[in-house]
Amino acid sequence: MRPEWTARVSFEHLRPLASLFSEDLAIDLGTVNTRVYARGRGIVVNEPSAVAVDEGTGEVSAVGKEAKEMIGRTPGNIRVNNPLRDGVIADFRVTEKMLNYFIQKAHQRRTLVHPRVIISVPSEITQVERRAVTDSAYRAKAAEVHLVEQAMMAAIGAGLPVTKPVGNLVVDIGGGTTDVALISMSGIVYSRSLRVAGNRMDEAIMNYVKRKYNLLIGERMAERIKIEIGSALALEKPVTMEIKGRSLIEGIPKTITVDDSEIREALNESLAAIVSAIRVALERTPPELSADISDRGLVLAGGGALRKNLDKRIRDEAGLAVCIADDPLCSVVLGTAKLLEDFAFLRRVAVD
Ligand code: ADP
Ligand code: MG
Repeated sequence: MRPEWTARVSFEHLRPLASLFSEDLAIDLGTVNTRVYARGRGIVVNEPSAVAVDEGTGEVSAVGKEAKEMIGRTPGNIRVNNPLRDGVIADFRVTEKMLNYFIQKAHQRRTLVHPRVIISVPSEITQVERRAVTDSAYRAKAAEVHLVEQAMMAAIGAGLPVTKPVGNLVVDIGGGTTDVALISMSGIVYSRSLRVAGNRMDEAIMNYVKRKYNLLIGERMAERIKIEIGSALALEKPVTMEIKGRSLIEGIPKTITVDDSEIREALNESLAAIVSAIRVALERTPPELSADISDRGLVLAGGGALRKNLDKRIRDEAGLAVCIADDPLCSVVLGTAKLLEDFAFLRRVAVD
């Protein structure tokens, strides 16, 4: 267990009264998407972790879905960014605005006694960044703030028995990072965060189409191609897709058709890097836990788990059974939400 994992003072004796009026929140602060679960109501926010900032005034002009709609369509003075893009916080101020917006949105117009908030953060964020997230949540009127690690939450959300003395291997493929974590007895035995995930795949598709067809496509188009026809191994039925972009040669809009094998080629390097990170994790796993993993296999979570045939490719290349979490995009927030009901468990896994 890591040294910085500290237990916090319990306010539990005050909870029964406070929880009559408050609505505790569980937040997955993802690199691409943020999700908020309100106790008693379920997932109430599910939006891109995106913020549009006016560079002239420094003001935030949109957050979430509205900001993502603007990507590639903004005038020169407005920049849309994902403040956690690589799993580290690029801009504290913007992150705070975003978190505040999502917390307010989750509460709607309710009047509340200040809630307890559990925030699930990327594993690689530093102490200073964690502090910034915690302070932002307090400024958004949280009464109690706890931080937990996304990989651990993904495992809990996927229903793995993380408290038991058995090895649980979870691979969370998000937008900015792929996190591989081996968990046993509520602690992380091994973890690694790789900056190769959905965003890198989108970029690879943009580059491929540019190189092969001299066609410039936007990030959002690339993401659509990846989701619609991206795959990790050949498909039973080949598929094609019409894509639109701007021709580099003629300088005008142009439509072309690409097929799944081309996109597979574009994605191959990223997928190979993910498989290789899993193999490294297996090599670093202590023998007893390694035996557990070979019996039980691994669980895939995050949006990347939905990539067609990725489970089969990992199974073939890493030699392990692979199962996909029930709702991979929501594993982290659902795992975090479970802690709202179990304070003792929360104390064991909180990182701050
Ligand atoms: P994060 O936790 O880093 O915010 P998510 O787990 O929400 O990331 O996953 C977002 C990534 O998953 C994006 O790169 C997105 O393009 C990709 N994604 C979303 N839906 C699908 C899908 N159906 N198939 C493949 N990839 C998907
Ligand atoms: Mg995630």
